[in-house]
Amino acid sequence: MNDLTHGLEQVLAQIADAAHAAGRDRDQVELTVASKTQPAERIRPLLLAGQRIFGENRVQEAQAKWPQLKAEFPGVELHMIGPLQSNKAEHAIQLFDVIETVDRISLVKALAKGVKKLGKRPKFYAEINIGREPQKAGVAPEEADSFIATCRNTHGLEIEGLMCIPPEGQPAAPFFAHLAQIAKRNEIKILSMGMSADYEVAIAEGATHVRVGTAVFGHRL
Ligand SMILES: *Cc1c(COP(=O)(O)O)cnc(C)c1O
Repeated sequence: MNDLTHGLEQVLAQIADAAHAAGRDRDQVELTVASKTQPAERIRPLLLAGQRIFGENRVQEAQAKWPQLKAEFPGVELHMIGPLQSNKAEHAIQLFDVIETVDRISLVKALAKGVKKLGKRPKFYAEINIGREPQKAGVAPEEADSFIATCRNTHGLEIEGLMCIPPEGQPAAPFFAHLAQIAKRNEIKILSMGMSADYEVAIAEGATHVRVGTAVFGHRL
């Protein structure tokens, strides 16, 4: 077993432990491996080990890596987890199975138009700026309900999940709990929260998807 599959096995074992500790079913938590900056040769061993859900941050980088990998490995589910420009909406719809970073109405309009034109509909999650940080993307928590309703009712874009990145240097649990509350009152079942530093906390707060890079791959180059 090489270092990469070792990292993967460790993270999967810790997810199982965290789910168990939280009294949750192991199957309720999916691992999204954040593979930004990692070349295909470092991703392939994880695919060979059975991992199928991956997250990428940039459309162009994903276009360079994933069509080939998707052709080699059936059942890959590719998530867009980085900021998305409206002019890349169509490319993103073509390549990604899930777009986690829906965060403004101009983008929603571009995505709705792209879905119609291409006849392909990925899943969409809304990104919530759960710590109300000015430098971060995402819908403000107090605007989340109306944003989700507008996506559904005005633009025909169903929001199936919520995603957040909590502020650094503060305990993450209250932020994850807040995201879970927003999801619950909007009848949204998918919660994408938790990264290498805090995915066990996120699982305790109800994460259904954790996005982990460094803990699998080691530090990014
Ligand atoms: C890079 C990234 C991750 C993974 O971060 P690690 O700390 O390396 O686990 C998760 N989510 C997003 C949006 C990212 O950009």
